[in-house]
Amino acid sequence: MIYFSTNKASVPVSIKHATLQGLAPDGGLYIPSEMPHFSEAEIKLLEGASFSNVAFAIAKKFIGGEIPPDHLSDIIDSCFDFETPLVRLDEKTFVEELFCGPTLAFKDYGARFLARLTGYFAEEDNKMITVLVATSGDTGSAVAFGFQGIANTRVVLLYPSGKVSRLQEQQLTTAGGNVHALEVKGDFDDCQRMVKQAFVDPELNAGLTLTSANSINISRLIPQSFYYAWASLYLKDQFGLSNPVFSVPSGNYGNLTAGVMAKMTGFPIGHFIAASNANDSVTRYLDDGRYDPHPTITTHSTAMDVGNPSNFARLRYFYGNDHIAMGREITGISVSDEETISTIRSVFDRFGYIMDPHTAVGFRALERSRAAGSYHDMPGIVLSTAHPAKFIDIIEDTLKKDVVIPERLLSLLEKEKEATLISSDYRDLASYLNSLDQ
Ligand SMILES: *Cc1c(COP(=O)(O)O)cnc(C)c1O
Repeated sequence: MIYFSTNKASVPVSIKHATLQGLAPDGGLYIPSEMPHFSEAEIKLLEGASFSNVAFAIAKKFIGGEIPPDHLSDIIDSCFDFETPLVRLDEKTFVEELFCGPTLAFKDYGARFLARLTGYFAEEDNKMITVLVATSGDTGSAVAFGFQGIANTRVVLLYPSGKVSRLQEQQLTTAGGNVHALEVKGDFDDCQRMVKQAFVDPELNAGLTLTSANSINISRLIPQSFYYAWASLYLKDQFGLSNPVFSVPSGNYGNLTAGVMAKMTGFPIGHFIAASNANDSVTRYLDDGRYDPHPTITTHSTAMDVGNPSNFARLRYFYGNDHIAMGREITGISVSDEETISTIRSVFDRFGYIMDPHTAVGFRALERSRAAGSYHDMPGIVLSTAHPAKFIDIIEDTLKKDVVIPERLLSLLEKEKEATLISSDYRDLASYLNSLDQ
């Protein structure tokens, strides 16, 4: 399988190059030159298959040829050694819980797979790869835990001192081993500026092989298509329901793009709802075909506070730049903070189920589209992107009730923080990186 850039000005590359490079040299995003396809007979054979088996079948089509099947299968088994529960709320409404990985958010699916692929390709070249990330929270922790203990890789993550929650800081600073946390005396923009400068510093790049791990990497998207495909088959096998509409809480639209890829490869998916908070650039595009991103607005669903989503270029490409074509498969719904809070409350009252604010946006968007007369006969699956304990303050304020914190989160809070304090001067970062073994 060959991957080319959405800007079409870079040379097509292998999955290995696309994974290690992240962004194409022309500034575009890598996509498969030809979308793999499953025939109806192939899909039929996968009905009733385990998550790992569905994942392996898809991965083989995207990556096969570059990683021997036995090895790819081992990579998949070690990535997804946790459950992906599909919880039924009522006759036709389900929640797919994507928060059972080590950092309690769906970003674990992408980060763990990317880490193992990077490790595999680094070993092939007998290299040490240094993953450099600036983070304001969730991406950094998924990357830290994804790469933890993966041979031939190490992570250096920069986070702004005093500007992340205590829980986030524990997640960023306790992985240990090959994961190094740098606490920067500055804000997130300083962290980002320093990282960008490192990528273009010729002296530094002569000695180190640097890579980024952000959500534009195609190897973070491929594994996210697995849970759409698996749920569409599982729903049929267990409940006799088919062609679900997926409601996807969206920020950079990587998750939704992965869903569209699962549908394009032939899995029985009916429709998508792009559920956003007040950051509604894509919703407005779907209305009138004009893409006019606004500055980012802060909301209760913070991980979705993105004004100009990085994966939108891929979505647009898939639909030939045609918002009408996109609108046939994706409905955009923007949900306010007030609705988010009232949804957390009403879902708890009706079903006894506790949803985090991001999932609540997805649930409300599905309900609103059903109330408008769409999809009420179709089964709906809301993707739950984070465990409610990650947003314990909002949940406890809203429900006046204690949230049970999972053991793996509690044990994290007891671990000793390990971070190196540096200034926001680039030279501090450069000298830290130069001090690492090559
Ligand atoms: C990152 C994130 C999202 C948004 O996902 P995208 O792929 O960026 O659209 C939603 N919810 C949570 C909890 C997240 O961490």
